[in-house]
Amino acid sequence: MPTAMPFYRRPLARITTGALLAAAASVSLVPSQADAGERWLQARSMPVAANKVMVAVTVQHAKLPSRMVYVSNLQGKIIAQGVLTRGGKALVPVSVRPGTATQVYVTFRHTRARLTVPVSTTARYMATSSWRIINKVNGVNNAYTPRVLTQMAGVPIDKRAGAPLQRLLKDAARDGVKIYGSNGYRSWGWQRSLYQSYVNRDGRAAADTFSARPGYSEHQTGFAFDAKAADGRCSLESCFAGTKSGQWLAKHAAAYGFVVRYTPQNSKVTGYEPEPWHLRYVGTWLTGYLNETKLPSLEQAFKMPAAPSY
Ligand SMILES: [Zn+2]
Repeated sequence: MPTAMPFYRRPLARITTGALLAAAASVSLVPSQADAGERWLQARSMPVAANKVMVAVTVQHAKLPSRMVYVSNLQGKIIAQGVLTRGGKALVPVSVRPGTATQVYVTFRHTRARLTVPVSTTARYMATSSWRIINKVNGVNNAYTPRVLTQMAGVPIDKRAGAPLQRLLKDAARDGVKIYGSNGYRSWGWQRSLYQSYVNRDGRAAADTFSARPGYSEHQTGFAFDAKAADGRCSLESCFAGTKSGQWLAKHAAAYGFVVRYTPQNSKVTGYEPEPWHLRYVGTWLTGYLNETKLPSLEQAFKMPAAPSY
């Protein structure tokens, strides 16, 4: 029986301009794999800001030659590096010119395993990213809308977060915790009137600690979901953390790919008061990584600067 040559011993395919353009045109979030027989190495990328892409690497291998992961450009020059967690995950930030698409190689020291991963910050690719950072420094323009919305718990959210949220709500109900939605996707215009109403009531400085200016709300991405208890108690209030719903979400949301985005541990980074009801979908790869590393914010996981103010 012929044995497949291990990926790392294979000669590297020469990358032609045509192949590169084809790859850039068909960028997908499907993980790249070394090959079917070498599933121990996987990598994919997700843009997080206009000029930044995170390369997520997963290694499932009993004996790691090293914990270092390297990302190099098409010329083979190392441009970024990361360290694998015990669970075999690394997040490596790569700078990419805004609106462009290219590829990088992911490699390990001591082996010649090399994976090609598309990295892109084109509008189309940005629109598919559930890792896009929205904070007081990184916003979205007024035309941005989620590609496909779905209705869940009474509110519209990005379709990609729909099924995980449905599972979360179902499992919470099974545990006797009925959770409803109070906010999902919010348009730029809607955010503008909401923010303005808070400014009129409390003044701009106070409003900025709990409401986002238009273009700086995670709700505009469709990946944010505000939970509400069945009895409506502590709705959108800090005491929600002490309710059965708040406690259930703090404990279990990560298992479904959601993070509680604004916590007491990260308010200095985000510039927001804790919001135990505000969930942000990022997928279970990232929530697993956050649980392992204990990093308290998405900004820290992505090695982005704190954004406490505009
Ligand atoms: Zn919210």
